[in-house]
Formats: sequence, structure tokens, C-alpha cells
Amino acid sequence: MAIDGPAGAGKSTVAKAVAKRLGYRYMDTGAMYRALAWKVMRQGVDPGDESALEEILESTEVDLGADAASPSVMLDGADVSGAIRTAEVGQMASRVSGMGIVRRRMADLQRAMGRGGCIVAEGRDMGTVVFPDADVKIYLDASPETRARRRFKELAGREAGLTLEATLADVMRRDRRDKERAVAPLRQADDALRIDSTTLSASAVVDRILREIDAKSNEDGRTVS
Ligand code: C5P
Repeated sequence: MAIDGPAGAGKSTVAKAVAKRLGYRYMDTGAMYRALAWKVMRQGVDPGDESALEEILESTEVDLGADAASPSVMLDGADVSGAIRTAEVGQMASRVSGMGIVRRRMADLQRAMGRGGCIVAEGRDMGTVVFPDADVKIYLDASPETRARRRFKELAGREAGLTLEATLADVMRRDRRDKERAVAPLRQADDALRIDSTTLSASAVVDRILREIDAKSNEDGRTVS
């Protein structure tokens, strides 16, 4: 199943919980873009330079640990799970993810990981581009202020001097770029269920998604993926 939406909508929390409840694997595709962005930053590469990105992609291995209870991100054999969770890496991820060459490579990897189904995949283009045939598609959204507050809570302990205002500006900048890019922009798939989590708890969102999955599997008489 596919969960898409903007930064801070609650995708990761909810996707992990749904995967755990169903015994499905979990795929955080944002972490893949973040891992690549981290390498691009470390190597001082221009994120708009297609041939430099191609070179990096050829010599880069990104692997996700798919257990929702302890997901991990490996970059060239090193665990970068913590290092990639900064606002700066998020912005760079948003820039490199606008490049077609990057998206094609990531989508290939994601489809390979998704083979066999029984996976909860979260990102920006899961239901629209990477898994257009997913049985259940969710578009999770919330007001910009709510999303910024969530992001701020997540980052404040780790990023000294961070303010809520700066986090809101950061989230809005990233959303705009993700929605306006030419390749695989963030948008709700036509057949996705939209859930606004502004006034909902994570567990209420999880329950709503599980109900949707139940309804779909009763309809189809098979396991949904
Ligand atoms: O989800 P997360 O905030 O970790 O994603 C970081 C960035 O990676 C997003 O802002 C977006 O630009 C990019 N991304 C994407 N497609 C995905 C997942 C993430 O373009 N499927």
C-alpha cells in the first residue's frame, strides 16, 4: 500500500504503525533521497549537475532495513539513519529529487524492494508513479502550521537554535518545490483516500487506514498490498 503527502503530515509514524499491525514490510522512500542528498553534500556536488549525479548514482548503494520496528538506512555499507534527519539534508533531498535521473534510479530500486507486495511504502509519488497499482492509496495531509510544529518537535533537540518560524518556512519551501517540480510532483492520486490529520491523533489515522484496508480486502477477497 502507498502513503503520500507533504512533510510533517505524519506519514512515517502512521506507515510504521500500519506495517507493524499487518506484519508488512515498511519502505521509507524519503530516507533514500535523504541518503543520496547526504552524500551529495559531503562530496560538494552541485545538485543540479546531471552528469555529476549520474556518476554518484553509479557508485552508490542505498539499502533500507524494512522492519517497521527498527527501520534503518544504509549508504555504501554505513548506517546513516540518524545523520540524514536534519532540515539541511531534507532541503538537499528535495533538490536532488527533482532530477529525472535520480528519480528513475530510486523508482527502480523501490519497485525491486516492493516486489512480492505486503509492504507499506511512504513518500511523495508512491501512489502516482512508483506503485500506481497499489490496492490502497492514502494521501495524508495537515495544515502547514501543524506540520511545522510536528517537524519542530522532532528536530528541536538535535538542531541548536532552530525556531518554529524557521521550521515553518523550511517545510513550506520544501513542499512548494516538491509540488512544482516537473518530474513526479507531489499530488494526490485520483484513487487515493485523503486524510487530513490536523486534528487527528496518529492512532486515529492508523485506525482509519486499517478500516480502509479491511474494506478493500473484503471487496476483493484477498490480501491487499
Ligand atoms: O519524507 P522526507 O521528508 O524524508 O523526504 C525528503 C525529501 O525527499 C522530500 O522533501 C522530497 O523532495 C523527496 N522525496 C521524493 N519522493 C519520495 C520521497 C521523498 O521526492 N517518494
